[in-house]
Amino acid sequence: MSVGHFFDTDLSQLRGMTPTRLSLLQTELGLFTFGDLIQYYPFRYEDRTQIHRIAEITDQMEHAQFIGRIRYKEKLGNGSKQRIVAECCDESGCIELVWFQGVKWLEKSLVTGVDYLFYGKPTSFNGQMQMTHPEMEVFKGANHTDKFYQPVYPLTERLRKKYIDSKVIAGLQRTLLGSAFSHIRETLPMEIIQQFRLVSKQEALYHIHHPQSENWLHQARRRLKFEELFYNQLRLIKQNLVRKEQFPGQVFASAALLTTFYQDHMPFDLTGAQKKVIREIFQDMKSGKQMNRLLQGDVGSGKTIVAFISMLLSIDNGAQACIMAPTEILADQHYQGLKKFADVLGITIAKLTGSVKKKDRVGLLADLASGELKILVGTHAIFEDVVQFHNLGLCVIDEQHRFGVAQRAKLWDKNKHIHPHVLVMTATPIPRTLAMTLYGDLDVSVIDELPVGRKPIQTTHRYDSHRLQVFAFIEHELAKGRQVYIVYPLIEESEKMDFKDLMDGYESISRAFPEVPLGILHGKMKPADKDIEMARFVKHETKIMVATTVIEVGVNVPNASIMIIESAERFGLSQLHQLRGRVGRGAEQSYCILMTDYKLSADTKKRIETMVRTNNGFEIAEVDLQLRGPGDITGTRQSGAIDLMIADLAKDGEILKVARETAIKILEEDPHLAFDRHLMIREQVMQQRKETTNWARIS
Ligand code: ADP
Ligand code: MG
Repeated sequence: MSVGHFFDTDLSQLRGMTPTRLSLLQTELGLFTFGDLIQYYPFRYEDRTQIHRIAEITDQMEHAQFIGRIRYKEKLGNGSKQRIVAECCDESGCIELVWFQGVKWLEKSLVTGVDYLFYGKPTSFNGQMQMTHPEMEVFKGANHTDKFYQPVYPLTERLRKKYIDSKVIAGLQRTLLGSAFSHIRETLPMEIIQQFRLVSKQEALYHIHHPQSENWLHQARRRLKFEELFYNQLRLIKQNLVRKEQFPGQVFASAALLTTFYQDHMPFDLTGAQKKVIREIFQDMKSGKQMNRLLQGDVGSGKTIVAFISMLLSIDNGAQACIMAPTEILADQHYQGLKKFADVLGITIAKLTGSVKKKDRVGLLADLASGELKILVGTHAIFEDVVQFHNLGLCVIDEQHRFGVAQRAKLWDKNKHIHPHVLVMTATPIPRTLAMTLYGDLDVSVIDELPVGRKPIQTTHRYDSHRLQVFAFIEHELAKGRQVYIVYPLIEESEKMDFKDLMDGYESISRAFPEVPLGILHGKMKPADKDIEMARFVKHETKIMVATTVIEVGVNVPNASIMIIESAERFGLSQLHQLRGRVGRGAEQSYCILMTDYKLSADTKKRIETMVRTNNGFEIAEVDLQLRGPGDITGTRQSGAIDLMIADLAKDGEILKVARETAIKILEEDPHLAFDRHLMIREQVMQQRKETTNWARIS
């Protein structure tokens, strides 16, 4: 029998498995096979080494464990209030125990005169120490080795109701490990195991479920995390290599147009970082392989000009280029900005968004199909099938986080003969660990330098009660000719109330500044109206822009120097950072003021404090990752893009780095994993592919 098959065995075959449990494990946890179960890892462990005397227990303790005897018990209350209350004592003192569930069972089985081991969260009620629903078992004597680190498994409410708790899962794991142990095969080559002093797979799986000491637990986790990240990186990097082999790219070797632009029309000197990135892109575009590159750069770092120069490469070599933005406002801004450059070079450029009229579309689409039109700027509208290019050479996607991966792939087909080069840009700095796992199959460039002469934005935190001072400050800046953004939160769940907040805000501001022309911008406005409002602000006709987060992405008004964020506690870190990036774009000193209520949660305090402390997007992204975890940041928790079972991207950066380096080294030597000594890795990669498809079926 092939060893692989053992872990494919259906969970119903596990000794002691009941049909009820089986069906719950399947529906609640998605566990179907021995392999699924053994890889269902605890997410934390409880230290059960300490046994307290009852008199020492206080309600300050997270958890307490003690040995005691039941002095008396009684059933109280009726219906849902029915409960068992018991007094439990050791020689030092007594504690009250309460159960609302399992009353019948406890009435029978909770007996006096027996030592029990209890564990739970102590509370105090009218000065009396209590513990509700403690875990309990009959105390079997001094030898408690298996109690050292008790695994805690992720469980659902439904499982708990059916009495499937961590102890039950640990029991199942114990049964499984008993028969599975000899079937566990090593999944990492000896070379790697030795190099990084990892424990074996057998040892790791055993100790992850039943750690025999703190050190064993540490080693088991380190080993499994390394393995998971190593194969994750290997797969992504291999994908990138295979794609480079499979998909040729148009060779764009002429840079004449670029040189003309650079010498005669560049409005400023490029920063060193911009130059570096342009070189990387140029290398890709003349390599003969399709480019798939992610360009990360903080707000205001100057990604647009890099995109434009890349487009010139495409056009210079007889192909077309497009740039896609997530909103109309941003598409329009790109169009206005790029048109200036395109015009001086005599390059045709057009804009395509949902609001472009049908009769204007016809001509535009015809020009695009004939190749007459060189640059297309637009929104999602570009995805539509009617949009056909003559020869699309480069596609730039701005603010990637607003587009899905599937959409990215769709653009490839906009050129039927040879996939266009793809440049994905994001101003949401992604922590390195996330970028490696999320975009590990892309090549990554970073603009880590702002244009010279920018003054760092000064950020302050003000409570709502200081509004008058804030208004005075606004007045002061307006007098100097500056413009101001005031942003209100707008989230879908409470749209109506938020909208009211926005309107109330607008009114109070117009009362406070009766002479000042105001603009307003929110998602309910028609695109045409939004454009008009935005244009008025750009032309300085309005001085204060009251808006929701629709202005978050990309909008560029260098004269705006104050960003006021109302109810800042309701924004996420990356959103705050994005909003702040709307100012500080000109030569003037800019300010960001975060307005909040007095009552702030610990997380909110941390967010505000981080914003006040630093302008560095990568640093902010790191804090965001620590606060929220990877799934929330990328919005990919559901999509399974980061399907990690044990590694934690917020904490395991070091292991990831080493795993990635190791994967790169192996693939550089042996891109197809054809060497004998890589046989195990090759098999593992194939096995994983199979599992991935199985998972797809289940979910
Ligand atoms: P982002 O990376 O946020 O998209 P933009 O491309 O919108 O940034 O650039 C922000 C502003 O900085 C624009 O007004 C742009 O013209 C200007 N800019 C870009 N690069 C430079 C540079 N090297 N020197 C001076 N200004 C620059
Ligand atoms: Mg931009």
